[in-house]
Amino acid sequence: MTSSSTQAPVAIVGGGLAGLTAASYLRRHGIAVRLFEAGPRIAGLAQSFQDADGFTYDFGAHFITNRLAAALSIGALCRDVHLYGESVLLGARVRNYPFGLLSNPRLVASAAAKRLQFWNRKPAQSAAQWFADKYGPALAAEVANPLAEAWSGLPATELSPAAADSIPGSIAETLMLKAMGRFTHRAVAIGYSREVPPSPNVWHVYPEGGLGLLCQHLASELADVIELESPVEAIEVENNRAISVQVRGQRHPAAAVVSTAPCHILAKLVRGSDSLQYLSQFRYRPMVFVNLRMEGRGLCPDVVLWTPEKRFPFFRLTETPLCMPWLAPAGKTLLTVDIGCQVGDPTWTMPDEQLGEFCIEQLKPIVPDARQRYLGCRVLRTPVAYPVFARAYESDRQRFAAGQEIHGLYSVGRNAEFSHIFMEDVYWRTLKKMRRLRQSLALAQDAETPIEPTREAACT
Ligand SMILES: Cc1cc2nc3c(=O)[nH]c(=O)nc-3n(C[C@H](O)[C@H](O)[C@H](O)COP(=O)(O)OP(=O)(O)OC[C@H]3O[C@@H](n4cnc5c(N)ncnc54)[C@H](O)[C@@H]3O)c2cc1C
Repeated sequence: MTSSSTQAPVAIVGGGLAGLTAASYLRRHGIAVRLFEAGPRIAGLAQSFQDADGFTYDFGAHFITNRLAAALSIGALCRDVHLYGESVLLGARVRNYPFGLLSNPRLVASAAAKRLQFWNRKPAQSAAQWFADKYGPALAAEVANPLAEAWSGLPATELSPAAADSIPGSIAETLMLKAMGRFTHRAVAIGYSREVPPSPNVWHVYPEGGLGLLCQHLASELADVIELESPVEAIEVENNRAISVQVRGQRHPAAAVVSTAPCHILAKLVRGSDSLQYLSQFRYRPMVFVNLRMEGRGLCPDVVLWTPEKRFPFFRLTETPLCMPWLAPAGKTLLTVDIGCQVGDPTWTMPDEQLGEFCIEQLKPIVPDARQRYLGCRVLRTPVAYPVFARAYESDRQRFAAGQEIHGLYSVGRNAEFSHIFMEDVYWRTLKKMRRLRQSLALAQDAETPIEPTREAACT
């Protein structure tokens, strides 16, 4: 199918992975596009920065899978990640996730007792109830609830059970995939994608130079349609159909609009319809990521260390050079400290050096000589990091997930879909939605094309 020369281009809001995937797919199928990116560069959350000392900082994403790299034809430009592991710090003990937790008799007894109460089972109404039903009250209270609360900023009783959607599937599957990872010496991806099944043949990889490579690769064929520093100010809707976008005061007619903007921003952008107003109540958790440059390596017991206990002001530590040594110079490492906050609160506004000092102080129970090893820090603040699955708007979230109410307006990507998805799912889900958009444009075009008389009809 090719687009009619009279059809306006599809307007794409945002130049992260979702927007670029949409633009690339539509263009390959002969549909004209225009991509407007608010910021001075593409890639959105998939950006990495290198400093003069040889440290690499990922803004959001840390790695992708070899399956996504192959789909984007950048497999040859990626390095394999050979190991990946997560642990939980409880008291003085580090317990590997999930099997170390399962070896704690108290936690297991609590889970087993809960499972036996089959007469008392009702569908969970909150994340707290879901965790208690699934893992038992002890593990829920000591690990799952505090982590969900630090992550979201809401009590687990006020979170919907959907907050648990991102947790990997069955124990048996996790066990099998972990064993295959050990055998193949690759970080087999577990719980990474919901769109495509896990497999021992799908593992983590890191693109040369950083995650932005994916986006640069997609953008390389789209240079003539990408407009940077061009925030979309409005999406105009007429008769419940998206018809144009406004950028820097100028109106651009559009055959359809693909938005990758976060939901609460989309609600503000739409003019001429109130049907997406309910999205303005959706919230995202802001995060401060403090990247500590440190002497030495292997300061954390695992790549990711979860810290659910209240004594820590952070809930997660990540030492990426443990599995991707190229992210720090030899003999040095990076510890990323994740702190949930609100925009404008004391954590958000704390000067970078002070945040670094604060983290070093709080790290002492885990890295006793943290101060002697400390070389400085780089702080990344993101106001829109994680969607918050609040019970207060759960029915609206489900309504939004079921499909968009405005014709010709498609929401794609992590924040636009209000879904805790990784880059691979952003990619597959965007393609799925763009196939639908392509079909609907073809139908619209067929309806407008005058029917040419057939040869037989012309003869009569
Ligand atoms: C802390 C963190 C860690 C992560 N780790 C991983 C990981 O290890 N692996 C993985 O695969 N994924 C990871 N992810 C997820 C991954 O980063 C995202 O799924 C993916 O990058 C989202 O791409 P996107 O295009 O949907 O959104 P974004 O990257 O947010 O892009 C949206 C773009 O839209 C632009 N925009 C917004 N409003 C407007 C407007 N009005 N006009 C014009 N432009 C606008 C923004 O400037 C932005 O560039 C992580 C995410 C976070 C937050």
